[in-house]
Amino acid sequence: MGRIGVKKWLLYEQMHRCYYCQFEVEVIGIEGSAVQYEATLDHIVPREYGGDNSPENIVVACRLCNETRMHFRNYLVFREVIQELLKNETVFLRWHRFTKDELRMVRQVVHKRLGQIDPEWAFEITERSILGKAWY
Ligand SMILES: [Zn+2]
Repeated sequence: MGRIGVKKWLLYEQMHRCYYCQFEVEVIGIEGSAVQYEATLDHIVPREYGGDNSPENIVVACRLCNETRMHFRNYLVFREVIQELLKNETVFLRWHRFTKDELRMVRQVVHKRLGQIDPEWAFEITERSILGKAWY
């Protein structure tokens, strides 16, 4: 199955919803577009940790969730953190419509929470920040 086939099949399986935030995603054909609700393929086990491209290792995620997760290892923990965040009504109402500044704030909140759960991540994201490789 090619990547397009996988995406179509997973979209159907996931009822066109992001695996993490459960918001509706859309397939957008414009290469390089950065729409927050765009359907993207996310590796359950990140490539950096040896995850492969098999359909079993992939979920459909909105671009917002995918890019916020980066390569945080535990995708289930990531989903819990996103679900927790969405209980905040302001966040819920603005989801997929964040301005650049709001995006930065949301990602900071998520990454801080992930760091509380996974000290290795806390270390890594701090390093990335210092090196200017994080968004904030
Ligand atoms: Zn999402």
